[in-house]
Amino acid sequence: MPAKVITRFAPSPTGYLHIGGARTALFSWAFARKMGGTFQLRIEDTDRERSTEGAVQAILDGLKWLGLEWDGEPTMQFARAPRHAEVAHELLARGQAYYCYCSPEELATMREEARAAGKPPRYDGRWRDRDPAEAPPGVAPVIRIKAPLHGEITVDDHVQGKVVFKTENLDDLIILRSDGTPTYMLAVVVDDHDMGVTHIIRGDDHLTNAARQIVIYNGMGWAVPEMAHVPLIHGPDGAKLSKRHGALGVEAYRQLGYLPAALRNYLARLGWSHGDAELFSTEQMIEWFSLDGLNKGAARFDFVKLENVNGHYIRESQPADLYEAMRSLAREVGRDFDTAGLEANKATVLAALPELQPRAKTVLELIDLAQFIYVVRPIAPDNSAIAVLTPEAKATNAGFHQVLTGLADWTVPAIDAAARSFAETQGLKLGKIAQPLRAALTGRTISPGVFEVMVLIGREEALARIGDQSSLT
Ligand code: GLU
Repeated sequence: MPAKVITRFAPSPTGYLHIGGARTALFSWAFARKMGGTFQLRIEDTDRERSTEGAVQAILDGLKWLGLEWDGEPTMQFARAPRHAEVAHELLARGQAYYCYCSPEELATMREEARAAGKPPRYDGRWRDRDPAEAPPGVAPVIRIKAPLHGEITVDDHVQGKVVFKTENLDDLIILRSDGTPTYMLAVVVDDHDMGVTHIIRGDDHLTNAARQIVIYNGMGWAVPEMAHVPLIHGPDGAKLSKRHGALGVEAYRQLGYLPAALRNYLARLGWSHGDAELFSTEQMIEWFSLDGLNKGAARFDFVKLENVNGHYIRESQPADLYEAMRSLAREVGRDFDTAGLEANKATVLAALPELQPRAKTVLELIDLAQFIYVVRPIAPDNSAIAVLTPEAKATNAGFHQVLTGLADWTVPAIDAAARSFAETQGLKLGKIAQPLRAALTGRTISPGVFEVMVLIGREEALARIGDQSSLT
């Protein structure tokens, strides 16, 4: 029986959880779920200057919001420094690593000479076979791994295929600094090994690191996990993803009004495919997920596509869930008026949502569309509504206001019938009645059906709003 699958996501907490990280986390998570394995989280907080508590929290919050729950407690990399040092010493004992006593000046000269000779600046291995008895006094040494001098290291990758690195291009990397702290390359290998990681799924910017890490695995005689290096996300123009093109933190997407399920679906398709399926549930994704489905070509981030996917999820969502998303987003982004309005009018918002859902692509748009429910009279019309509210339009509003005042039955069909017969008596098309009404009732030119709006806000409020914007007043 193959070993139980263990995947991991290993972010460095130096900023928010960015969209590329969220996508690799999603792939690692989906693969673990598919295989009945576990998905672990490791916070790579060894860069003490740049790692912050706030960034750790942002990563945890971002993953939770996206629905990518990890198994067990997160592993904190910095806390494991003694274990990393222990492995460095074990590599020494195994003859797979050595002390290097080079001074910074020597290293600088080495780099200069390599540059002058047109070679890549790399360590020349001068302490590799030297007797440590020759060590200069008072110098704290670093520990370097012995990279093989000849041959090749092959990264047998699920996405990239067999990628061959000539070992002469891999120098003897420092694994333990002179102050006894581990380098990143050592920490990653020791942690992945100790966590029992069977599959490493990460960005292809780590592909060269993979070759260097394999040297460390081999030095310890440890099995190398399977690897899948996923191409990075590019912008719509094919260039590196910029902020303007979507290189934002996950919380920015939340604040722009995207739903986690929509983002999961969109991110899944950004670098993975299952036939030509575009819209699928997370359950389907898990069922279909395989490393073979990861694409080799770089995916391009497309906001318009993401919006359309989000619009789909908004249409498919339950009003109760959307109401919660609207309320919590309004609160998060500090829209106090909307928060209060949504909370005081929950039942009306829930009743209105089926009308709003087809008209919105984001939760923010839903909030905007719902404002007519709790907007306070007299409504200040927006510019396009002002343009609609001509003197003739106000006269039409006044006329229909009278009709509505006498209307016994306050339902959509009754108001609809009344509007049609009023339009006929005025010799106007129905739209000529509806647009001024909409402008008066909502202060906008886009809203759910005007008759629905009237029923949702109720007779008294509707009549008052139309009265406010009619030539009768
Ligand atoms: N901490 C690394 C990063 O944030 C990832 C390391 C890895 O996945 O091996 O890019």
